[in-house]
Amino acid sequence: MKVQDRFLKYVAFDTQSDSASTTTPSTLKQLKLAEYLVSEMKELGIQDAHVDEFGIVYGNIPSNVDKECADIGFIAHMDTAEDMSGKNVNPSIIKNYDGSRIVLNKELAISMGVEEFESLRNKIGEDLIVTDGTTLLGADDKAGIAEILTMAEIILKENRPHGNIRIAFTPDEEVGRGPDHFDVEKFHADFAYTVDGGEVDSVDYENFNAADANIQIQGLSIHPGSAKGKMINALHVAMEFHSMLPVNQNPAYTEGYEGFNHLCDLHGECEHAVMSYIIRNHDEQLFEKQKEDFRRIADYLNQKYPKDTIRLEIKDSYANMRSIIEKDMRVVDLVKKSMKDIGIHPSSHAIRGGTDGARLTYQGLPCPNLGTGGYNFHGKYEYASIQEMEKSVELLLKIVENNLS
Ligand SMILES: [Zn+2]
Repeated sequence: MKVQDRFLKYVAFDTQSDSASTTTPSTLKQLKLAEYLVSEMKELGIQDAHVDEFGIVYGNIPSNVDKECADIGFIAHMDTAEDMSGKNVNPSIIKNYDGSRIVLNKELAISMGVEEFESLRNKIGEDLIVTDGTTLLGADDKAGIAEILTMAEIILKENRPHGNIRIAFTPDEEVGRGPDHFDVEKFHADFAYTVDGGEVDSVDYENFNAADANIQIQGLSIHPGSAKGKMINALHVAMEFHSMLPVNQNPAYTEGYEGFNHLCDLHGECEHAVMSYIIRNHDEQLFEKQKEDFRRIADYLNQKYPKDTIRLEIKDSYANMRSIIEKDMRVVDLVKKSMKDIGIHPSSHAIRGGTDGARLTYQGLPCPNLGTGGYNFHGKYEYASIQEMEKSVELLLKIVENNLS
């Protein structure tokens, strides 16, 4: 089956995850796609295809060569983002894109073009899969699933030589729970790749170090008419706290390797206020420094105001995989060589976020991220290039092949 036909089948499944849910997976509808994938994998001849109690799909293709080589894993996620509905996705194909504005929905006057989406400029002449403007597309990450299984189909049908290939599809990546129940030991790979990025020429192995800061502020409420010298307005203290953080470390002012403190939530009243921040930096030392800023401000305000006015809790959530990947770059070098072999000029970008691969890397499975040929994720302007999806399949095949040499 062609990679785009496979992809179009998968996007028909609504697999939106839900951060408010306490079930595993967060939405049961993800299991429908999981079961469908298992039956497809069995049909293809992938061994031991099953979905486990946490909704994770596993399968493997045992080695057919006599040679010692690495066990390689390929991972993609089944869920789609909460930001926009993934129900009743109604994709259409723009053949041989000519660079003009793409009308996604005439009635609703929704269109997109190179003016606002620079990536489209490089897509002239390619065939694009787009939405009807009312949902996201789901290329994030059903393009990854389609590419992995198309690679598997070609290997099995043509009986190409290969080492052990491990495959997994996870639920709930978009709500940060993808690797929660991932069984690294059972997966049994020396390293793996998440196929979950944009441009196919990119192999990414740097992401943010990440922490959450929660700040509880205890004020003192009293009738404003008789408040002199007594009232402590927790909301004022919150603003004071925020004003003491470095002004430039704001997501709206940062890019590339620049870190930030992002105030995600502030609520309260005179008596009590709560602030939530996320803290992000690629550099470990700068990241620690940012966390130290929070502690120093809390200490200062606890001296200025009654002790325990500020209660600060900082929790690390994930770390930059670079420090681990760098110790053994073979996992990246294999991709770069494979890219060159199929005429792609390799690049690497520092991801301004996290990936499932980052957490898996820290769980003992080195796991850089590869592109899928999908763009503008998490919204109605999401699209995928069929030629890039095909290129991704070619790259995965080449990685498997080069792993033998
Ligand atoms: Zn994704």
